[in-house]
Amino acid sequence: MISSALDILHSVFGYPSFRGQQQAVVEHLAEGGDALVLMPTGGGKSLCYQIPALLRQGTGIVVSPLIALMQDQVDALRAAGVAAAYLNSSLDAQAQREVERQLLAGELNLLYVAPERLLTGRFLGLLEQTEVALFAIDEAHCVSQWGHDFRPEYRELTVLHERFPQVPRIALTATADPRTREEIVERLALTEARQFVSSFDRPNIGYRVMLKHNPRTQLMQFLDGHRGEAGIVYALSRKKVDDTAAWLAEAGIEALPYHAGLDAATRAKNQQRFLREDGVVMVATVAFGMGIDKPDVRFVAHLDLPRSMEGYYQETGRGGRDGLPAEAWMIYGLADVVTMSQMIAQSESADERKRIERQKLESLLAYAEATRCRRELLLGAFGEDYHGPCGGCDNCVEPPKTWDATVPAQKALSAVYRSGQRFGAGHVIDILRGVDNERMGQLDHDKLSTFGIGADMDEKGWRSVFRQLLAAGLLATDAEGYGILRLTVASRDVLLGKQAVRLREDAKPVRSARRRRDS
Ligand code: ADP
Ligand code: ZN
Repeated sequence: MISSALDILHSVFGYPSFRGQQQAVVEHLAEGGDALVLMPTGGGKSLCYQIPALLRQGTGIVVSPLIALMQDQVDALRAAGVAAAYLNSSLDAQAQREVERQLLAGELNLLYVAPERLLTGRFLGLLEQTEVALFAIDEAHCVSQWGHDFRPEYRELTVLHERFPQVPRIALTATADPRTREEIVERLALTEARQFVSSFDRPNIGYRVMLKHNPRTQLMQFLDGHRGEAGIVYALSRKKVDDTAAWLAEAGIEALPYHAGLDAATRAKNQQRFLREDGVVMVATVAFGMGIDKPDVRFVAHLDLPRSMEGYYQETGRGGRDGLPAEAWMIYGLADVVTMSQMIAQSESADERKRIERQKLESLLAYAEATRCRRELLLGAFGEDYHGPCGGCDNCVEPPKTWDATVPAQKALSAVYRSGQRFGAGHVIDILRGVDNERMGQLDHDKLSTFGIGADMDEKGWRSVFRQLLAAGLLATDAEGYGILRLTVASRDVLLGKQAVRLREDAKPVRSARRRRDS
């Protein structure tokens, strides 16, 4: 069995050896077992079902939501001499009949189908009249509501197990956080399946996160270290993408914009230039990147917080596909946290969805504010037990200085509490610093016991304290997104003096109070 799997790898695919867990997966499937395969993008998931489909009797049925990619995959397989076909809405009636005929005649090694097609009574009926080698469920995270690609049809795929209990099934995904994994297992009835979990580490990517104070200067300094190299700069809004791209172009950098608001022709043109020319910097919203496979992307910069750790991993993962060093760089500030909270609150999503989004934002904040190895946190978010120092993130290269901020943290939390947990950071900082403005007087906040107890630290210092308290879960913002601060369960121990608080040095009291907002 092993030798024939290897034979196919050599003779059909032309590769000298298996990669990572491929061989183990192939053998397990070929022997009739079920499998769940978690592998990062580019890890080589396709061979995990293609080779067993060739080893076993009958046709391998591949369920994939990516209709646009089916044709490419099938063309590549045919070029290698594999009898492959696909069935989706892009085929006309006659072409569909022909594929069905081939399936019934047992002429196909592999058949790619869209989930909605597979689930039709007609297609399931056809499958009952033919021999099925295996079912491969690609992009299996689509079954999960936790992720961003939820497809209701994926939930119905359990019908495969019910109607074809003897046929081995393999589910594959590059999305690996533990909650998604649990949901895949449960929703696709894969409790008996063996799990093959690859490492998601990208050792050639270096990670760096900085406090945002002057975004343009910071970006320019970063780009100065990458002159003439290809890279992606992500920003949250279309306007910011346009403005940044124009500004960079003016400064002599080969920068192009990309977002969903541009017309299709411009988008296609900019994407082509990024792919074909050397050293183009693509300034983009998250609309850019899906299916982009450019090996020599040397950096990925984030001017705003991404949506989640998952998103951050996917976006930064577009750097360094060629295995050479690449840099993932991000700047963020307190204002970003407030913006993100507002976006979540004001979205049309159901409450459950909003709760998920808030949790995702929180883990991203913890990552941004981390003082320990970033790789450890990033991989930890995917359930991977990695232990730093990695030597390739800012915190490992230069461990951040921390200071004992227990007393300022207590002052901050008290001020939030005493003012009734009804105000945003700006006003609470004014209370702490004893700013005597009209609003203070109207609210009688100048009479609070916390009024002016933080006058020894400037506004910038306090903003940093609040930002880090939020990131550490010692403060939370309101669900409606107004940026109103409230205490959390964890705040209590700090207020009672049971827990010390250490913060990054950037929050240390600065006595020469130079006012500068950290945007
Ligand atoms: P995924 O689906 O996990 O993103 P693919 O299956 O598309 O990854 O494979 C990614 C690339 O790696 C493809 O170009 C594929 O041909 C190549 N590849 C996969 N397995 C091997 C191997 N054992 N040896 C060499 N190249 C491989
Ligand atoms: Zn590290």
